[in-house]
Amino acid sequence: MPDIIDRYGRTFKTLRVSLLSACNLGCVYCTLGENTDMFRKAQAPVERFLMHIARLHQELNLETIRLTGGEPLLYHDLPQLVEGVRAMGIPEIKITTNGFLLERLAKPLQEAGLQSVNVSLDAAEEASFYRMSKRRGLQKVLTGIEAAIAAGLEVKVNTVIMRDLNDDQILPLARYAFSKNIQIRFLEVMAMGHLHKQADQYLYTQEEVLNCMASAYTFEPEARKTSATANYWRTAEGYSFGMIANESEPFCHDCNRLRLDAQGNIYGCLSSNNPINIKDADSSEELQRRLNQALLQKQALKFTGSELSMLEIGG
Ligand code: SAM
Repeated sequence: MPDIIDRYGRTFKTLRVSLLSACNLGCVYCTLGENTDMFRKAQAPVERFLMHIARLHQELNLETIRLTGGEPLLYHDLPQLVEGVRAMGIPEIKITTNGFLLERLAKPLQEAGLQSVNVSLDAAEEASFYRMSKRRGLQKVLTGIEAAIAAGLEVKVNTVIMRDLNDDQILPLARYAFSKNIQIRFLEVMAMGHLHKQADQYLYTQEEVLNCMASAYTFEPEARKTSATANYWRTAEGYSFGMIANESEPFCHDCNRLRLDAQGNIYGCLSSNNPINIKDADSSEELQRRLNQALLQKQALKFTGSELSMLEIGG
């Protein structure tokens, strides 16, 4: 198998699959409350996703699959899809979700082979939850997290911090996560979609988050793992928290992620508006050629922003 590797030594080992572009929340950084229900109807069949994933796995020997969207828990045949991925022997199967439907789905997904869930949660208080997601239902998400823990899934919380919108939620969310013994990662906002030209006004930096955490906790940095998106710290009490700091500490230099959307397009980088269709790549050589094309989309140093929202390309 010829290597698919770029001049910085980067390859693809993690595949993020965007299952659909519909979402049941309307988060400010993504859709600004817009209704995305029209995307719910025409969902791509499980067999099509499995076919694309199997072909990519054959070329890349993938280590991790992360299912995302839109909201992946709205995808109609999710347990079947997870089962199919498990049958391919890909070692790690993970999902990124807003957790709204997790109470019902946590157990069936764990039984199908899911191991880990990242729950996007931007507030620990209802008013702030509404400000960020334009929907009510914080309690539903918290119940979903409980269900995921009870089902034996690894659970992490991801929180985008936006200046003057939810920067008062850092400590309440950290307290919540630590009380459940789950890891929390704070994200710097990225210049995507409608924020493409105006993310700066909302940017709350890694340094500011750390200053806020330092007002309540003592902590030490932990070593960064290769290809990790996050930096981590450990508190004196033994709790771990992270920062995904695209602006302050970009992590493009060893990025190993490839993205697949529901139309059968791959992307080598979140910043790329140029889908590469693999539907008609009818030989292994042709698929490899397109994978190398996707590799060229990666940024050398830093993600520079995109007009695509993560709703479309998958978060
Ligand atoms: N619906 C699922 C969820 O809420 O986790 C999966 C998709 S959603 C696009 C995934 C995550 O991407 C969001 O929760 C948020 O953490 C992140 N995200 C989306 N747009 C972002 C932006 N402009 N800046 C930073 N993070 C963003």
